[in-house]
Amino acid sequence: MNVMEIFETMEYGPAPEAAAPGLAWIKEHSPFSLFIDNQWVKPAGGQYIDSINPATGKPLAKVAAANSADVDTAVAAARIAFETWGKTPGHVRARYMYAIARHIQKHSRLLAVLESLDNGKPIRETRDIDIPLVARHFYYYAGWAQLMESELPGYQPVGVVGQIIPWNFPLLMLAWKIAPALAMGNSVVLKPARYTSLTALKFAEIVQEIGLPAGVINILTGEASQVGEALVRHPDVNKIAFTGSTSVGRSIRRATAGSGKKLSLELGGKSPFIVFDDADLDSVVEGVVDAIWFNQGQVCCAGSRLLVQENIANRLIEKLRVRMEHLRIGDPLDKAVDIGAIVSPGQLKEIQRLVKQGVEEGAVMWQPSWACPTEGYFFPPTLFTNVSPATTVAQVEIFGPVLVSMTFRTPAEAVELANNTSYGLAASVWSENINLALDVAPKLKAGSVWINCTNLFDASSGFGGYRESGFGREGGKEGLYEYVRPKWETLETSPEDFHIAENSTSPNGSGSLSAPDEDRDGALQDLAFGSSNGYVAALPAIDRTPKMFIGGKQVRPDSGYSRDVYEPQRRVIGQVGEGNRKDIRNAVEAAHAANGWAVGTTHNRAQILYYIAENLSVRDDEFARRIVQQTGRSYVDAVDEVQASISRLFSYAAWSDKFEGVVHRPPMRGAVLAMPEAIGVIGTACPDEYPLLGFISLVAPAIAMGNTLVVVPSQQSPLSATDCYQIFETSDLPGGVVNIVTGDRDSLSQVLADHDDVDAMWYFGPAEGCKRVELASAGNMKRTWVNYGHRRNWLEPVQGEGEEFLRESIQVKNIWIPYGE
Ligand code: NDP
Repeated sequence: MNVMEIFETMEYGPAPEAAAPGLAWIKEHSPFSLFIDNQWVKPAGGQYIDSINPATGKPLAKVAAANSADVDTAVAAARIAFETWGKTPGHVRARYMYAIARHIQKHSRLLAVLESLDNGKPIRETRDIDIPLVARHFYYYAGWAQLMESELPGYQPVGVVGQIIPWNFPLLMLAWKIAPALAMGNSVVLKPARYTSLTALKFAEIVQEIGLPAGVINILTGEASQVGEALVRHPDVNKIAFTGSTSVGRSIRRATAGSGKKLSLELGGKSPFIVFDDADLDSVVEGVVDAIWFNQGQVCCAGSRLLVQENIANRLIEKLRVRMEHLRIGDPLDKAVDIGAIVSPGQLKEIQRLVKQGVEEGAVMWQPSWACPTEGYFFPPTLFTNVSPATTVAQVEIFGPVLVSMTFRTPAEAVELANNTSYGLAASVWSENINLALDVAPKLKAGSVWINCTNLFDASSGFGGYRESGFGREGGKEGLYEYVRPKWETLETSPEDFHIAENSTSPNGSGSLSAPDEDRDGALQDLAFGSSNGYVAALPAIDRTPKMFIGGKQVRPDSGYSRDVYEPQRRVIGQVGEGNRKDIRNAVEAAHAANGWAVGTTHNRAQILYYIAENLSVRDDEFARRIVQQTGRSYVDAVDEVQASISRLFSYAAWSDKFEGVVHRPPMRGAVLAMPEAIGVIGTACPDEYPLLGFISLVAPAIAMGNTLVVVPSQQSPLSATDCYQIFETSDLPGGVVNIVTGDRDSLSQVLADHDDVDAMWYFGPAEGCKRVELASAGNMKRTWVNYGHRRNWLEPVQGEGEEFLRESIQVKNIWIPYGE
């Protein structure tokens, strides 16, 4: 074609990126070994797997297939390395990380080429998005390594971290995982996805190049059944960080349940892309291209559900079709290509299957007129209209270049449709009316909301999901907490260290002063009552029946049964309702109905917490006696517990309007609002030690942050909690915000952990119960917070209150707001 002809047709000319440097590097190294303890090690089983170039379907390289023996070796190396790396000063770690960032930049083009060859994604994306973001992550987290000692003084590294990453952003996912782990002083064993190991292996070379201490980073290539599962089950791994499918995430949740391993899961999504009728439609079209055709739609937060206001739907769909007709698909190394290859034949088949199902279910499919390359694994951009919200293509993550579109009429309908999914990873909102966009954003159940933009990522801004999109955040300061644990957690605590409800007198020697009178329900027996005929009878106490507290009402148990409450000498001191599945169901319903609590003002929540404290203080003597009665501890001790509870309520009243978000300034014209949001309905099983303080310490932070609760109070000493409902009633706490169901802790916790409408579960009880809760939570991937059977010293503010409790009570939503004309 001559220049004149090019001007006539305006066709793209070829703009190939040279594959030669990448292929030469591969040739030099293939077959690749494993990277353990800074050495290249042959796999114990002597097995290798092929890495395929998805754009040609031809083998690119042979990589080692590790097995469980290799996992043992790598974990052992990481453990030894951790002993030193974990104590290495932050400044020293920062220097290493800075060097990694520099070396990523030095090798950026090779990394970009390798990624495109191995994964099939266009070079434009690897060169301009993936690799620059990888470097940015190491720079950003080098900063947190430097600041750890001053900014996270109460925290220590977790230990050896197992990291399992997917194939869609191979090197970027590695950076998201390794950078914060290293910054906080952990050592790492990482398994890349089977299809895409090459950039991880190049990264291992960089680790050697910069002289990172041996064993801090280990890379094990191979298959899930051999490496992934062994890593997940390894007893010497302290944390698993996983990104991938919800089904594998669920199996990892189950496999780690009760093991005490920390866990973060970044799973799938079906993210809405909401377009209001005042949006700039040309920008919207480019937004859709970035939302669903970026990386062939193989993006966990891809905007795969287009929700359009009805009156502009036809116009937008028409514009989209025109744009789709002009998208270019083909060789990922061509710099003018928009869409590359699908990662594997299996993934391609899955996309084809789901698209066929969409057609069978009645949706109308449209694809551009041009044909895909016949060599390699390609799938054309695809648009479904006439989609009904309940169909498979509207609900299931397709993980391919397939967009489904639906319409809405009002903003409320848009929100309802957007949230009609079990996922909650991301959303984007398009409108020129900023008031509307900022009103809708907080109502979307998603970890990231992009306003008039989409698929923006930065190291400074956290990323992660709600609901079945997983839990934990990557990026930002919040991402650091996935890789640390409180320093006090290593302190050996035994029941003798502090007061427990297994009776006994004050262990801290604060005296054995007992309550002024024995305050049992029969304590008033000395009173007498005279009748007019002169007969004087002993006056029995008026029977007190603590009920359950659901939806702001005192209710009797559905079962019609009660359970005895004993004091330490096994004398019965009262009865509480024997709660069952139905009571929990009613309580969860009531907690959901009270969801207005989350959107009320933080000032109002603070006021109510202060008021609860005030009303508790008026009755402090009575509450102290109740503690003495249930636990046999001294009156002085019990008074301490009541005063600590009042102080704790003050603390969370104070935090209520101060635990706020931050504004990030990523490298763009705009800002990201990182806003803490309530998790939703939290099920809570309270500890037996400290019947009042344990209850208040869990209830107060959760409601301060806007959650509503279903609380199972201490099984052994529930009366302090049931006494509290009168305090709640007189403190203007709206009905349904705190619901109390008494009874058997473990069976009630099981029902809560199984319940799909409970968003998080906290459990403070025996280790076995913790395991059961973690296992059951995999159903809807609810967040859990358990104590693995360790008691806390609830009186001690470092263990009993503070940021840890607040962080467990919220999830961060990042709202991206670009600005400028
Ligand atoms: P997987 O979830 O199976 O794989 C992700 C990573 O986990 C890979 O490294 C994989 O290893 C490993 N893995 C798989 N099973 C286990 C296990 N039981 N224990 C430990 N590690 C395991 O995703 P797929 O690659 O199979 O993709 C399937 C679907 O998952 C996609 O269609 C998409 O819907 C979703 N997905 C979502 C991603 C996201 O970012 N949220 C990313 C990738 C996929 P190996 O590669 O050896 O199998």
